[in-house]
Amino acid sequence: MFYILRLRKSVDMFAVVKKRRDVGAEIATVDVPELKRDEVIVKVKAASICGTDVEIWNWNEWAQSRLKKIPLIIGHELAGKVVEVGKDVTALQEGDVVSAETHIVDGTCYQCRTDRMHVCQNMEILGVDRDGVFAEYVALPQRNAWKNDPKLDPAVASLQEPLGNAVQSVFPKDHIEDIAGKNVAVLGCGPIGLMTIAVLNTAGAAKVFATAGGRNKVRMELAERMGADMVLNAREEGEDLVKTIRDATDGNGVDVALEMSGAASAVRQAFEMLTPGGRVSLLGISERPLEFDLNAAVIFRAATVYGIHGRRMFETWYQVKGLLSKHDFRSKIASIITHRLPMKDVAEGMELIKSKQAGKVLLEPKWE
Ligand SMILES: [Zn+2]
Ligand SMILES: [Zn+2]
Repeated sequence: MFYILRLRKSVDMFAVVKKRRDVGAEIATVDVPELKRDEVIVKVKAASICGTDVEIWNWNEWAQSRLKKIPLIIGHELAGKVVEVGKDVTALQEGDVVSAETHIVDGTCYQCRTDRMHVCQNMEILGVDRDGVFAEYVALPQRNAWKNDPKLDPAVASLQEPLGNAVQSVFPKDHIEDIAGKNVAVLGCGPIGLMTIAVLNTAGAAKVFATAGGRNKVRMELAERMGADMVLNAREEGEDLVKTIRDATDGNGVDVALEMSGAASAVRQAFEMLTPGGRVSLLGISERPLEFDLNAAVIFRAATVYGIHGRRMFETWYQVKGLLSKHDFRSKIASIITHRLPMKDVAEGMELIKSKQAGKVLLEPKWE
């Protein structure tokens, strides 16, 4: 295959391509990606489906306004092997196993030059603005190809990108907030919420409270497996949810609340259960503008609030690497993968995620 790639005489590959500005995507044959001087070509070994992929698949309002490039190969979470390197690539070699930081930045704007590269003004996102990873091969800028321990299971390695979001939510800035010995709530038990519980546990949080939107038996069980001390069904608890958590923290409320669902009720509860002077990280995306009492929630509570978008580049990748070096943590993260499907069954994977009966759905490069 190395040989064929180099010849580049109309070599085809399979990919999941969004060809029309409409619901779904199809398995198609397309050209293998072009090799640029500062990029590498990666043969995809494992990919996982992210909420963003589902939104693009569903062609919701966000996707309709956000996506410019059609046709587009979707997907962004992967592990794969470098099979070709561009002329200017110095940090990688053929045979290296990599995953992708999906925020592709210019390195020269105000944010990039002031240590906030993850919110670059001219950011392109893999699988959103440029061809993604649900394909046999993908091209990645060398800066975005994160070299993995070759012994790390590709399935787990493919989860490092969302795991970085979890780490960013827990530690929005180095040393800004102590987690060790503190009471923390995680609102929402989707894959990133689950990963967050595992991070908190490994980082030595005191009590970890997890809330799920209801009827998510699979996810609630996983929350326990991740090490949550109390897993609450938000629908059943209703108005009592905040009281239950306050009672379990000597009436003080939690030191840190991590909102991972985007549900309006959960955003309000995150502040209501917070101890004065505590911290909230907001990662969940709400479907529409929210109304809540800013005075009571933030100002009189002297709360610190972080918006979480992306992952600090590349501190969070080093933190994820450190966490994954621990056997216990690694096996927890692996257990979030509840389904493995061949890439050709990507539509089934999307349905599984929509049903909320899955943790992470992994796609393996089997096309026929
Ligand atoms: Zn993702
Ligand atoms: Zn920039």
